[in-house]
Amino acid sequence: MSENISVLGLGLMGTALAASLIEAGHHVTVWNRTPAKADPLVARGATLAATPAQAVDASSLVIVCLLDYPSVLEVLQDAPLAGRVVANLTTGRPAEAPEMAAWVGERGGDYLDGGIMAVPQMIAQPGALILYSGSRPAFERYEQAFGAMAAARYTGEDTGMASLLDLAMLTGMYGQMAGALEALALVRSAKYPLMEFTTELLIPWINAMSAQLPRWVADIEAGDYRTEVSNLEINRSGMENLVRAFEEQGVKPDLLLPMKTVIDRRVARGLAHEGLSGLIEEL
Ligand code: NDP
Repeated sequence: MSENISVLGLGLMGTALAASLIEAGHHVTVWNRTPAKADPLVARGATLAATPAQAVDASSLVIVCLLDYPSVLEVLQDAPLAGRVVANLTTGRPAEAPEMAAWVGERGGDYLDGGIMAVPQMIAQPGALILYSGSRPAFERYEQAFGAMAAARYTGEDTGMASLLDLAMLTGMYGQMAGALEALALVRSAKYPLMEFTTELLIPWINAMSAQLPRWVADIEAGDYRTEVSNLEINRSGMENLVRAFEEQGVKPDLLLPMKTVIDRRVARGLAHEGLSGLIEEL
């Protein structure tokens, strides 16, 4: 079904989102602070609005993708939001989402908050995901249109949930990158081929270890951190060994040290018999 959709914010991400909606056959109106960025989209059939208010007026679904929440408030200030669904895909914090929902609600609009789990090049490609939270009727009304941009997953009526899950997924990613960077620095110090190490050893190892995560989660949900895999004393000693090896190779273990600190703290509490999953209680 073809919808009237407005996209406010044509940075790298907003442009990709608008392009995917045009491609899917929707009537797309766009607005950007720097209007020239709209040119390629207009060439593909989008309508350029002169002001945010005009853009909002043109559609019942308004997708916003700007720098941050203050810029969203600034841009939507004078827009006629009544009767419209605002899907704010700007990255924010969980606490900002309910404030934005209330602000939109006071103006008669319905609100969805979103977290984009993709880079612009992934939009409309397999693997792209956008998390939504907030108004369920709004999500159900536009679920099909959202699907043109990326797989759309509704995470509940708690407006901050999409943002929280987005940040949690980014946290997992940064942790994985931190480990990978330390591993690569160590391997580089020994002049072993980095690409071979990465593709043949590191990636399969990380995948195998990721497969253990549900077992950890079961322990955490049960609050039972006993282990038959490897206890914290073994991990404490392993970390000490790691850090020493890094020093001997002339590589800084800076991204590993926070993990060592938390393991040491847990062991100092007399919980050396527990598994790594128990570290969650230290956070
Ligand atoms: P860009 O820097 O490419 O674009 C930023 C956009 O915000 C531009 O349209 C810019 O307008 C606009 N803007 C900034 N400040 C203001 C303001 N005060 N008033 C009006 N407009 C303003 O960023 P992205 O497109 O990459 O990111 C946009 C959002 O998408 C961010 O929240 C980001 O976290 C999120 N996101 C981005 C991803 C990515 O890989 N790029 C991945 C996941 C989420 P102008 O063109 O005039 O400067």
